[in-house]
Amino acid sequence: MPIPTELVGSLPRPMKLQEAYADYDEGKITEEQFVAAQDAAAEDSIKRLEATGETYVTDGENRESSFATYNLADTLAGTGAADHLALDGQYFAIFDDGHNRQLPRITGGPFRYKRYASEFVEKNVKIATKPVKQAVIAPSMMMLLYPLEGEVPGYSRDAFLADCVDECEKDIRQCFAAGAARVSVDFTEGRLANKNDARNPWTNKNMLQEFIDLNNRVFDRFSADERRNIGLHTCPGGDCDSVHSLEVPYELLLSKMFDINAGYFLIQCASEVDRESVYKMVGKYSREDAKGIPQMCFMGVIKVGNPHVETPEEIKHELVTAAKYIPVERLGATDDCGFSPFSRDVKPAHGSPDFARDVAMQKITNRIAGAKLASEELGV
Ligand SMILES: [Zn+2]
Repeated sequence: MPIPTELVGSLPRPMKLQEAYADYDEGKITEEQFVAAQDAAAEDSIKRLEATGETYVTDGENRESSFATYNLADTLAGTGAADHLALDGQYFAIFDDGHNRQLPRITGGPFRYKRYASEFVEKNVKIATKPVKQAVIAPSMMMLLYPLEGEVPGYSRDAFLADCVDECEKDIRQCFAAGAARVSVDFTEGRLANKNDARNPWTNKNMLQEFIDLNNRVFDRFSADERRNIGLHTCPGGDCDSVHSLEVPYELLLSKMFDINAGYFLIQCASEVDRESVYKMVGKYSREDAKGIPQMCFMGVIKVGNPHVETPEEIKHELVTAAKYIPVERLGATDDCGFSPFSRDVKPAHGSPDFARDVAMQKITNRIAGAKLASEELGV
């Protein structure tokens, strides 16, 4: 089987769409106009992804406030937020360029998503002529909605975590029921868990094992066959062309991450200085048998925060090197992250989000060409 490819999920939102988000927050446009702007961008994403030759297509998450909040609110400013949420929660991340992203705070139970990702899948399968994939958020990210210390009156931490697991399972099952061929779970908080950033208390609490255990409570509710098509994505962040945890030694995460019983992993690597050591670690720690299925390892061969377009030859070289350490039948190719996980992102290193959207399409096209070259060289 040739080396498979898959994108993480998001694409830069056109500037026109980003303006629609701002206008909706300010009450300048109606909900209907806002949704129409999302639909137009989403359809363009699907058509353009199909033209690249990508196996599975997404709407670029162009209907989502972000990868981590699509289930909580309509916009990043909190318009249309779910019940029992205050907008003054923890910082999910403080990025290297100094900007941050803040999560809401849960004020009571029960915790229920305002929106499930299946809502996007239902729309996308009507547009797409190729199989559709959808990314969903991990319960380990939702865990950060709960205050770090103490308990919310009338809503214990355990009850909240049980709700996080139930809601994530429901989110995944509904995506498949709506016609998704693949669902990947975003786990960007994994590497950040070992950052020990004095400005961001949760990163000092050594939460990685808790995250892994919580995520496995979801994965373990699915059969081996179902888990073949349920993936997990790791990265050091990718927002406004900046990162949040690239300096955290990768082995702290990679030595544990494959304990999660996912069928495949979308693994940032292109932006690492020592990529060969990452291939080595992925080969060492990924499992042939994760409760009945092998773990496919899709290595990131595309930098999402840099407008330089990787050539097919460069990508081939990376994949052929990776195959020295990762069995080729478990090797795939992906991008380091979504190209724009948050809805407001002008892609500063690119000059504009519209240009970044064109660049993303070129990068994806070359990733597919590079994977084909590598497959030929490796004889698969
Ligand atoms: Zn990512």
